[in-house]
Amino acid sequence: MMDEGLAPGALEKIGKIDHIDFVTVRLPFLHPFSISAATWTCKEALLLRLESDGLVAWGECVADPDPFYAYETTTTTAHIIKDFLLPLLEPGLSIGELMGKFHPVRGHGMAKATVENALLDLAAKRRGKALHELLGFPSRPIPSGVSLGIQDSSEILVEKAAEAIAAGYHRIKMKVKKGKDIEYVRAVRKAFPDLALMVDANGDYSLSDADHLAQLDEFGLTMIEQPLSYSDIYQHSILQKRLKTALCLDESILNLDDAMTAIALGSCRVINIKQGRVGGLLESLRIARYSASKGIPVWSGGMDETGIGRATNIHLQTDPNFSIPGDTAETARYFHEDLIEPPVTLGPGGWISVPASGPGVGVVVQPDRLDRLTIGRQRIK
Ligand code: MG
Repeated sequence: MMDEGLAPGALEKIGKIDHIDFVTVRLPFLHPFSISAATWTCKEALLLRLESDGLVAWGECVADPDPFYAYETTTTTAHIIKDFLLPLLEPGLSIGELMGKFHPVRGHGMAKATVENALLDLAAKRRGKALHELLGFPSRPIPSGVSLGIQDSSEILVEKAAEAIAAGYHRIKMKVKKGKDIEYVRAVRKAFPDLALMVDANGDYSLSDADHLAQLDEFGLTMIEQPLSYSDIYQHSILQKRLKTALCLDESILNLDDAMTAIALGSCRVINIKQGRVGGLLESLRIARYSASKGIPVWSGGMDETGIGRATNIHLQTDPNFSIPGDTAETARYFHEDLIEPPVTLGPGGWISVPASGPGVGVVVQPDRLDRLTIGRQRIK
């Protein structure tokens, strides 16, 4: 149930909204991004645009156009938002109360997060406050982390890792899959013995691969992320007992209940909270607080977001419960041009500043770029 005391933003009234629009954008990636299940060459994102008394607020949906990372897609999220979530909006409700009213809609955390993110951005802009203030935290520099997709060879991977280390990233995650795992990790570890290194399999293995995965124990990885099925919690608890290396769950943590189950079963020693997947920032704070109370560190995962979603994730990480570097990398790794200014960049020592170009998410959407990158618009009645 709602915990109204958790974040000041939960208590903000929704208020009058003049216009609600879907804006679908497509940003070409500088380099294709491959995980065990798919390769993407561009970022296609559904944006929810709210307009109220001249203020414009945004929520970026993290769903892909395809169901290869999660079951939600840009099409299903638009359907759920338009036909089931937005009809529940009432000006007198608080954002926390609205999220409670979303409860009968089962799952669809990406759709719910999109609405919540936009409403929190709007509430912050009305108050002239930064989003992190509405979440209840002062600004602080955020540690950086980069996720390297599956490469054609271990030599290319080592080169990419070298570039990222030179840029100042605090930790490197490499995507792995069957056949591109042990030797790839060995090569990176050999080149960088002290690197904070982790792997993410996006569910490519099964429990019968436990002995194979145990070979990773010799490399001193900080964690192995979601080695087993995207929906599994129980089998990870068996695997965790057979490995020295900490497991981290990502895909199979869809809400606080899943996190409680995973922690109780010993399925992981770390959790990757993607706010855009677990139903939004408020649910993320709940998961982070519960996990911290059980001694489980959490970090903020990324979905290759445009600058809007990227900024939202940075604000979330002002919560000190996000105690280890996440997947927040600089914009220039992904896009020729982003929708927003300023781009995310790495400061001295590889730290990232919380965007502060105005209230809310603290980034400014550039109208010319938005026009150029938009592939669809729809005004919601
Ligand atoms: Mg992951």
